Amino acid sequence: MLVLESTSRIAMGAALGLKITTGTIIVQQKGDATMGNIYAYVLQDNIYLNITNRCPNRCVFCIRENRKGVGYDLWLDREPTAEEVLEAAGDVSAFREVVFCGYGEPLLRWEVVTEVARSLKAKYGAKIRINTNGLAEAVLKHKILPELEGLVDTISISLNAASADQYHHLCKSALGPEAFTCMLQFARDSKLYIPRVILSVVQTSDFNPEPARKIAEEMGVEFRIRGLQTE
Ligand code: SF4
Repeated sequence: MLVLESTSRIAMGAALGLKITTGTIIVQQKGDATMGNIYAYVLQDNIYLNITNRCPNRCVFCIRENRKGVGYDLWLDREPTAEEVLEAAGDVSAFREVVFCGYGEPLLRWEVVTEVARSLKAKYGAKIRINTNGLAEAVLKHKILPELEGLVDTISISLNAASADQYHHLCKSALGPEAFTCMLQFARDSKLYIPRVILSVVQTSDFNPEPARKIAEEMGVEFRIRGLQTE
């Protein structure tokens, strides 16, 4: 899910020369966007893991659809193995959270997520968050959430809309109008396996977040409004 962080924050992370761990994170200057293999990148006090470019959605507000790169070029030549992700992440003990979030849906590679999360928790006691569209179970037809129990501390799911029609209009999912229902079921089920569940929306000029907030409240999970990036 690539709508969560502002470019200025990304640039700030690079500009501040934040400790990039012992791994092979490549820090590019903003605008230096060539195809590469950045599997881990730093934003403020978190480290983010970029493990796939695959996604069933084509959200109108997705940053990868709106601009070429985000300061870091997160387009991948190929998907990394768990070992490569761990090497890129290195020692994560200085970071507040390790976040699975890149130019694609991380849970489409849930085996990599679990292997990496298990290792980083065991070695560094890392706090693990996944930013997801909540559709991987529907795409893969596999129950992923039980695999995440005990490994993932927070899951942030892109609600994005308050109805199936609105979701389809904004997210143009390959799953069609069913996608909204699948995502909501995933969010409900997440509460059974993951301590902290957040539903989020993107604030656009003509979007009223209140009906979506009501969905989150009725589900008993946190609600977050993210800013829109248009550049
Ligand atoms: S779900 Fe896919 S298309 Fe939508 S914001 Fe996330 S990565 Fe982009």
